[in-house]
Amino acid sequence: MAEKKKFQAIKGTRDLLPPETELWNRVEQTAREVFGTFGFGEIRPPIFEPTELFARAVGADTDVVSKEMYSFEDHPPEIAKPRLMGDYDGYVLVVNNLMASGAVPKTKENLRAIAQFEIFWRVFSESHTDVDSLLKAAYYAREIQLGPEVALRPEATASVCRAYIEHGMHALPQPVKLYYTGPMFRRERPQKGRYRQFYQIGAEVLEMVPPNQDPAKNIGKDAAVDAEVIEMVMAFFARLGLEGVKLEINSIGDRECRPKYVELLRAELLKVKDKLGPDSQRRIETNPLRVLDSKLESEQGIIAGLPKIADHLCANCAEQYAEVKRQLGMRGVAYAENSRLVRGLDYYMRTTFEITARGLGSQNAVCGGGRYDGLVELLGGPPTKGIGFAIGEDRLILSLQEAEKGGTAQGRDVFVAWMGEKAQATAIAAAQKLRAAGFRVELPPVEQKFGKALGQADKLGARYALILGDDEIATGQWTVKTLADGSQAKMSEAEFLEFLGKSKPLSS
Ligand code: AMP
Repeated sequence: MAEKKKFQAIKGTRDLLPPETELWNRVEQTAREVFGTFGFGEIRPPIFEPTELFARAVGADTDVVSKEMYSFEDHPPEIAKPRLMGDYDGYVLVVNNLMASGAVPKTKENLRAIAQFEIFWRVFSESHTDVDSLLKAAYYAREIQLGPEVALRPEATASVCRAYIEHGMHALPQPVKLYYTGPMFRRERPQKGRYRQFYQIGAEVLEMVPPNQDPAKNIGKDAAVDAEVIEMVMAFFARLGLEGVKLEINSIGDRECRPKYVELLRAELLKVKDKLGPDSQRRIETNPLRVLDSKLESEQGIIAGLPKIADHLCANCAEQYAEVKRQLGMRGVAYAENSRLVRGLDYYMRTTFEITARGLGSQNAVCGGGRYDGLVELLGGPPTKGIGFAIGEDRLILSLQEAEKGGTAQGRDVFVAWMGEKAQATAIAAAQKLRAAGFRVELPPVEQKFGKALGQADKLGARYALILGDDEIATGQWTVKTLADGSQAKMSEAEFLEFLGKSKPLSS
């Protein structure tokens, strides 16, 4: 008999269970409603995409791409890499056949790997003792790429941009406004508010720049789009009753002014290099903007004295930033400026924002967003403007739970306690009618003594118990118990439905 094994959810992943899932559903439903009122439609991209897409969009040297992606080779179903070296000969034979039929990609690299394999395998077969040749043959067999590298998505902006290009959405009325909800995957160190499978609710606004239009034009329009996107997230949070919401904004310039600022920052950082920690020292070379992100206590004083990007924006960026602030004001959206709010990637530009909420400890960012006008083009599409955000749904839920905005009890509207065969038929019919009217009904599968049934109704948090026994069936007068105060009344079916109709179902 197989050994008894206890399976557990993988570290950094978790089961979301009732009654908590009710809150998740409410949050997602509210997002749909609020985003819908702003003219956004839902997109559901696949959960895995070519690794290359994320490498391009998120940046090959970011932590997310270089260390945290769950990626794998998507081989055809007919074949998988063999585990035993002795199987490599047969394996390469199958690969050759699959390559002929097109199931395995006939790339230069694959042809070379096969040729090398064959050379070393022949040498090994002739000697049967030449371990070195066997190892080399095995190495080249493993080098064969059976299919594309794919990855579980670490974020969804790349997918949305890919879909915009793939479906020619630039031909639709612009801008195209899309939202998504779903799981993302990053191999991060798990802690409160940080998981390896986590959920995001995000939205993107994409707008192709017509040929001949200078993308620097329309600054006022872009600013209004930015402000409306931010207004939408804030409206969503307000509708949920999220507490302690703080919006921070910044402008990180564009291709015109940011490189000059980065150079200035690098020069200033070099002057204080000795006082910085190893991470920041490294970033002076690789990505000086990220130094501004540092949470290291000893660096805070130094960072406060560094030049601020707001003082080094070009005229277009400064105008747009001022206009975003004016537009936020017109919309009644309160914000704070944070000159240290940056995004490390080249195509992010101008408006960036982050929203924090109460009750989350050090992982208190619930939403990050920004403008990324170059991204669609970088992925092979037409020149396109873009702005979007991603909300961390796990953290949003945590914050709502901390503030007891969670509404945890799932409960039932009616528990149908029945005894006897005739009563069961009536109970089933009553449950059908009540459920069709949207009430939550618990109908026990077997009869129970009324005392036990009422105890269960209580445990489930039912509001009413409908008691159906021989008496009730004979007289057509049902017994209805209100569990909150223990009161009991007799009613006909019609009276009961009317009585319930006066109260709202729990699910609404
Ligand atoms: P990002 O895509 O990194 O800009 O993240 C956007 C939001 O997603 C953050 O503000 C967090 O709320 C959330 N988030 C990012 N990574 C994780 C994670 N590993 N676990 C839970 N939430 C996350």
